[in-house]
Amino acid sequence: MKRKPARVVVAGGGVAALEVLLGLNRLLGEHVRVALLCPRDDFVYRPLAVTEPFGGVPAPVYDLTDLLSDEVMTHVHDSLAGIDQSDRYVLTESGRELPFDAAVVAIGAHAEPVIEGAVNFVGRGGVEGMSELLDQLAAGAVKNLSFVVPPGVVWALPLYELALLTASWIEEHGVSGVSLSFVTPEQSPLRLFGTAASDQVAAMLHERGIALYASEYANRFDGHMLSLVPEKRIAADHVVAVPRLHGHLINGLEQDENGFLRTDGHGLVSGALDVYAAGDITSFPVKQGGIAAQQADAVVRAIAERLGADVEPRPFRPVLRGLLIGGSEPTFMRADISGAAGDSFDVSGDPLWADRGKIGGVHLSEFLLRHGLARNTGEAA
Ligand SMILES: Cc1cc2nc3c(=O)[nH]c(=O)nc-3n(C[C@H](O)[C@H](O)[C@H](O)COP(=O)(O)OP(=O)(O)OC[C@H]3O[C@@H](n4cnc5c(N)ncnc54)[C@H](O)[C@@H]3O)c2cc1C
Repeated sequence: MKRKPARVVVAGGGVAALEVLLGLNRLLGEHVRVALLCPRDDFVYRPLAVTEPFGGVPAPVYDLTDLLSDEVMTHVHDSLAGIDQSDRYVLTESGRELPFDAAVVAIGAHAEPVIEGAVNFVGRGGVEGMSELLDQLAAGAVKNLSFVVPPGVVWALPLYELALLTASWIEEHGVSGVSLSFVTPEQSPLRLFGTAASDQVAAMLHERGIALYASEYANRFDGHMLSLVPEKRIAADHVVAVPRLHGHLINGLEQDENGFLRTDGHGLVSGALDVYAAGDITSFPVKQGGIAAQQADAVVRAIAERLGADVEPRPFRPVLRGLLIGGSEPTFMRADISGAAGDSFDVSGDPLWADRGKIGGVHLSEFLLRHGLARNTGEAA
């Protein structure tokens, strides 16, 4: 190991950034000094935002300073603007230069609404719109409500949760005369978790009277009808959708046509030296917290080894873990899509992974449990 602590700049303050920060501190201890470059002071546990409009506990929000008070790090309240690879510094929006031995880009992605006129559910930002929609449902002002996965969105689980929760809410509140539909380009619901899980989710939609339009591409909503490509139209006076994501501009790094960073299996950014990336900003198509944490774990080991620690790098091997709420009980779904031993899928009402949380991760999930997040339902511990 080097004598002086290595300088690692981690840009971001979400799942991937925190997993990297915690991992580096655990693995390298006093041999590393992390500068967390993030304009925000809070960390929002977004997966639980779906229950909030229905009276669930609001998505937990942590103050980063409190949360990380025991970690060795500096919080730089600024934003990543670019990376100068020849002089090896991170450039911030306000013009600061942060020198690094290794840098990690974990700044997430921008959410772009695709269906104009829809309630766009982006986590906490979608709670108000969804709550207003429930008020309209209660007032009898909604007759045909459609949930739409726009083309290009791979992680659609939150929208299934919203649809199921809405159906239960309608029943509990005695609202009648509402037709619900679910439109998705997926061949079948949550197909990426395999056939058994997909069949189960399709059955849940069916039981709740939600009409399913699979392998369908919604492209226009005019306030009365939803147009599907090529020429189907379904009645919809309100639409709830999830956004498509794209990457922020980062000067000095190669980005793909959607603004994402291509990386190798260890998170090393294509064309860069000692610059890594993890999470939604990478070009990996599934934009999911568990995946972000797994990518971050690969980055931690790669950086640790590069800095001279006795650690064996382990490439990112994607294993999807999805915890679907909104059914009569939580449904755990797991898909090993690493290809290591052929793809394998599992679905169960019993937990399929140890921490039973919505976002996996070696360090973050254990850390959050210690800081009061209950396992899966959003209830404070
Ligand atoms: C409603 C909803 C439900 C979800 N449910 C699940 C689920 O059940 N399970 C699951 O695994 N995933 C779920 N996800 C997805 C999950 O939240 C994301 O995939 C995950 O948060 C991505 O982590 P990240 O660290 O890449 O980005 P983020 O968590 O988005 O964090 C990005 C961070 O970077 C900061 N930042 C932005 N720009 C800059 C900049 N220029 N410089 C410095 N910092 C910057 C932001 O402030 C933020 O702190 C859900 C998402 C939503 C919206």
